Amino acid sequence: MMTVDVITVQAAAASEAKLPSLSEMFPHRDDEWTCDVCMVSNKLTAAECVACAASKPQGVTCLHNVGLHFACW
Ligand SMILES: [Zn+2]
Repeated sequence: MMTVDVITVQAAAASEAKLPSLSEMFPHRDDEWTCDVCMVSNKLTAAECVACAASKPQGVTCLHNVGLHFACW
């Protein structure tokens, strides 16, 4: 149904506009970082993404830098 499709797309767009970033849409573990390229979760000890080999984003060891509420260590 065309009408349903339009409503679904508009709702999705509204949700995206409300959310500040993809990183906040997906819950983070405090011992992992999420690849900016492919969104795969990697161990904090991994210097590169296991899936696409992208470098770990700077500042990821302190999750305050990505707008989360975990304490720094
Ligand atoms: Zn990746």
